[in-house]
This record gives sequence, structure tokens and C-alpha cells, in this order.
Amino acid sequence: MAGLYVHIPFCRQKCPYCDFYSEIGRDTDLAIYVDAVCRDLQHSCAWFRSQPFSSVFFGGGTPSLLEPVQVERILSQVQQCYGVTADVEISMEVNPGTVDYHGLLGYRQAGVNRLSIGVQSFDDDQLRWLQRIHDSRQAISMVDEARRAGFERLNLDLMFALPGQSEATVAQSCHRVAQLGVEHVSIYGLSVEPGTPLAAAEASGRWCPSDEEDYQRQYLTLSEQLACHGFDHYEISNFCRSGEACRHNLGYWQRRPYLGIGAGAHSFLGHGDGERWHCPNDLAAYVTAVRDGRSPRQQIEVFSRDQAISEAAYLALRCRRGVDDREFLSRYGERFSSRFSQAISACGDALHHCGTRYFFEPKDWLLYDFYIEKFLM
Ligand code: SF4
Repeated sequence: MAGLYVHIPFCRQKCPYCDFYSEIGRDTDLAIYVDAVCRDLQHSCAWFRSQPFSSVFFGGGTPSLLEPVQVERILSQVQQCYGVTADVEISMEVNPGTVDYHGLLGYRQAGVNRLSIGVQSFDDDQLRWLQRIHDSRQAISMVDEARRAGFERLNLDLMFALPGQSEATVAQSCHRVAQLGVEHVSIYGLSVEPGTPLAAAEASGRWCPSDEEDYQRQYLTLSEQLACHGFDHYEISNFCRSGEACRHNLGYWQRRPYLGIGAGAHSFLGHGDGERWHCPNDLAAYVTAVRDGRSPRQQIEVFSRDQAISEAAYLALRCRRGVDDREFLSRYGERFSSRFSQAISACGDALHHCGTRYFFEPKDWLLYDFYIEKFLM
């Protein structure tokens, strides 16, 4: 089954650590953009033939700058051109401080059935340092408002390796998450991305990132503490209650096809061994191309068989379930254990083997990039 990603590259203000493509959005820009998204959905229908969609994800940027009526319009275009499965998962990223209870209710009524709330931290000093527009009280009340609006599936985004954070404070955050009773948590370590104000602050000596050991200790504390609170650490950065994994993101790690709509969005086509396409990070170019009836997409990669096999292996190893040797054989005509015998031995004890499955444990994910190089061809 295929997924649909709709990128909303607008934010209220830029956070100094973020290198995602987004612009400061005005209402008129958003209205023009929604028109372009709806047209692109129409035009792409013949090109992207894997349908109906079993998942839709509004990501950004800040999708909660959209009015409910705009979300409804996009979703009815999706329904009309592609269709969705009866049990479709429709997720939307929402940032506290950008939408109130009535807005959330509107999203629910438009068909959104899962929210990902950009909490980032429960500590107001950290939120101020991150220059987020919300405080912890607003983040917590958004969970309550989302429940009242009828959302049964909630994710919280949390950051770690922030100034002032320690193993003790991340453990407190896990406790807070458990009290809030959400179904899913995504964690992100603060990283310094080139070209951001944070990178400039580091270069000028005004700020210094937490050291590698602190980063690792906080990551493992999050993994252990969330497990104690009943969450399954099912992917490097994601935790869920039983049956609450994000279907849309699982599609990426399982190399299922997806259509990306919007400036900066990627698509993955399933023909042959796979093709990746990209809409450039340029709002004006995207809107103009769509308005002129031209495709806003460029092909950026056509996978060979070897590349597809490598990618399938390293994406699957991001997940706790890992690679199933029999499934790999039926999908790629070769056993994972034979194709990657050298890489498997090079990983040593870090790569676990149980029955037909090969997988990493959370502590081994800290060295994921190091191990995964052995699976690249
Ligand atoms: S709100 Fe999110 S996407 Fe926008 S600048 Fe901040 S971190 Fe980046």
C-alpha cells in the first residue's frame, strides 16, 4: 500500500537549530500554496499509480498554520483523485501556539485521525533557548484539547541533548509523557546543522553542544525509561504503545511507494527497483510550475538492483523488527544472510540473530552509521 506526504513549508518563525526548508508564512501565501497542492494532486494522479493511499501525512514546516477548511479541501482532492483505504491513517504535525481547540476539532472533522505534537521539551528555559513560540503549559494543554477534539492517536516530539538536560531530566520527561497517556513518542537529539544560526553560535564560541557521552547516556535513558512506561522502542527514534506504530513512517523503512506533494517533498516510485523524485526547495518555483501545468518534480535517483537490496537492508535495520531472512528472499530473490554474510560478521555481537530475524538493540543504534556502512555496495 502507498502513502501520501503533503509538505507545508511555512512556519511562524524560524527556530535557530532547524535546517528544514520552510518560509515565514502569510495567509495569502498559504492560500496560493493550497491551490497549488490541490492542482499538483490532480496532475500527479496519472504519474503516481500506486493507489489508494493507506496513509497520509501532513508534515512541515508547520502544517497547523493551515485552516481546517484548507485541510478538508486537500483531503477531498485526495479522495477524488486517488481514494484512501477504509482504515487510512491521516497524520498531521501540529505545533502548540499555532492552533486552538476549535482548530483541532476542525482537523478531526476534516478526517485527520492522528496528531504529532511538537512539544520538544517540558522545560520552559529549554523552550526559550530553542526559541519555540510555546511554553510547556501550552504543550500540555494541547494534549488535552486534542483528546477533547476526538483524537485517539497522539504522538509527542521530544528533543534531548539540550542545554541543561541530564539523564535525570530526560527521565522526568518520560514520566510526564506517561502521565499524559499518549500512544507514540518521537525523540530527536539536538544536532548542529550547517548554515543554521546555531552553527554560527558554535563557530563563534557563544555555545557549545553537549558531549558525545551525554548524548548517548540521554538516548539510552529515554529508551530504558520509555520501555519501563510500556513503550516499544520500535525504531531508532520512535516509540509506541502496542499496535500504535506510525504506519506512514513504517512505509519509508519498508521501501513502500509514496507520493510527495509540495515544495521540498520527495516521492518514491515502486517500479523496477525504485525511483526517487524531488520537488526543489523553492516555493515560488513549485507554485509557478504547477500553475503552468508543468511537473514540479525532478528525478534524482533510479535504483539498481544492488542499491535497492542495500537500501532495503539498512532501512529495515533501523527498526527493532530488523530483517526477516525469508521475507527478504521472497522480495529480492536472495537471502539477507547470504548476500550480506561479510557485513553480518563485521557487525559481530551487535547484530542479533533470532530465528529468521537479524536486528540491532537500542544501544547498538548509537553506532548505526558505523555498522550500516558495511551494508552499502
Ligand atoms: S517550527 Fe519546526 S520546521 Fe519550523 S523552523 Fe521550527 S523546527 Fe523548523
